[in-house]
Amino acid sequence: MFHLVVTACLLADPALCAKRVLPAPEPLTEAACEEGAKARIAGWIALHPDLQAGDWTCLPTEALPALSLTEIAPGVLVHLGDPQPLSPDNGGDIANLGVVIGDSVAVIDPGGSRAIGEGLYAAIRRITNKPIRQVILTHMHPDHIYGAEVFAEAGAKIIAHHNLTSGVERRQEVWAESIPRQAGALAMLGTRAVLPDRTISVPEAIDLGGATLRLQPVATAHTDNDLTVFHPESGTLFTGDLVFQGLTPSLDGSLTGWLDWLSNPPERAARQIVPGHGPIGRTWNDATAPLRAYLTALADQTRAAIRAGEAMSEAAAHVAADQRDGWAGFDEINARNAIAAFKELEWE
Ligand SMILES: [Zn+2]
Repeated sequence: MFHLVVTACLLADPALCAKRVLPAPEPLTEAACEEGAKARIAGWIALHPDLQAGDWTCLPTEALPALSLTEIAPGVLVHLGDPQPLSPDNGGDIANLGVVIGDSVAVIDPGGSRAIGEGLYAAIRRITNKPIRQVILTHMHPDHIYGAEVFAEAGAKIIAHHNLTSGVERRQEVWAESIPRQAGALAMLGTRAVLPDRTISVPEAIDLGGATLRLQPVATAHTDNDLTVFHPESGTLFTGDLVFQGLTPSLDGSLTGWLDWLSNPPERAARQIVPGHGPIGRTWNDATAPLRAYLTALADQTRAAIRAGEAMSEAAAHVAADQRDGWAGFDEINARNAIAAFKELEWE
C-alpha cells in the first residue's frame, strides 16, 4: 500500500514546511498513487488556504513515521500521550488515543494535530489494511479531535455527541490562534478542525464485525459533549477526559455533573479503563480516585469560599491549592477551574 506525501509550507512563513501524508479511501498501488497525486494535492490545498504545496512522493506504509501503539487486548490498541500541558516538546501529543480492529477499524480520538493523526494512521496501516470506517470523538477538545481530518480523507465517518458540533464552532477561532502558540506552529501545520458526519444523543452500539463498541453520550461533566466508548469483548472502557490521571483535570462543563458521573460507574463490567490522559487503570477506583479527590476538594473549598463571602478572584487564589501533588500543569489549570467552579456554585 502506497501513500501520497507532500511537502507543505505556510504561506505566511514559507520557511516553515512539513511533510503531510494525504491518505486515500482505497488502498493504492505506487502507480495509482502517482497518477492521482496532482489532483489530490490541489483538492487538499483548496481546503488549506494557509499552505502551499511543494515536492511530493508516494511512499510505502513502512516509510511513514508512525506513533507507538500498544495492544492492551486482542484487537484493542492504545497510544498513550504524554500527560503534560501542550508544549512544543510534545507538539500536542498529550491525549490517549484508541484503535479497535474487527473486520473494520474504529479510531477513538484521532489526536491533537494533523501530524499526530497521520502518525496514528501510519501505525494502524502497519498492522492492517482493513477499512477505517469510524472515528469516534470522546469530546470537543483539540488535543483529542484535531487528527480527524486524516481519517475523513481515508474514508472514515466521524461520530460525536450531539453537542460537539456547536462546541467546536464556538471555539475554533480561538483555538486556531491559541493551540499553535502553545504547541508550536510547525507541529500544527495543516491542522484543521472537521465537524462530525453524524452525532448521537442516545446510547448506540457499533458493529465492526467481530468487535462491538457501545457509545454512551453523557450529561454535562468535563464538557457538555462527553461520550464514553466500551468494548465489551475485552471489558475496555474509553472514558475520554471524564477521567484524568497525571495531567491536571480541566473543568469545561459542570463540576456537580462531573462528580455525579464519577459516583455512577458507567460500565460495571469494565476490566480496564483508558483515561483521556495518563496510565490505564485496572479498577474504577484505581482510575478515578485521584480525580475524585481533586474535584471534591474543588467543590468543597469553593462552597466554603462562597459562604465566607469571598470574591471570585480571592477564592481562585487558594481554592484546591492543597491538591497540587501529582498533577502536571496544576497552577494554571486549577486557577481556571476555580473560576469555573465559583461561577457554577455561587447560584446553588
Ligand atoms: Zn478535554
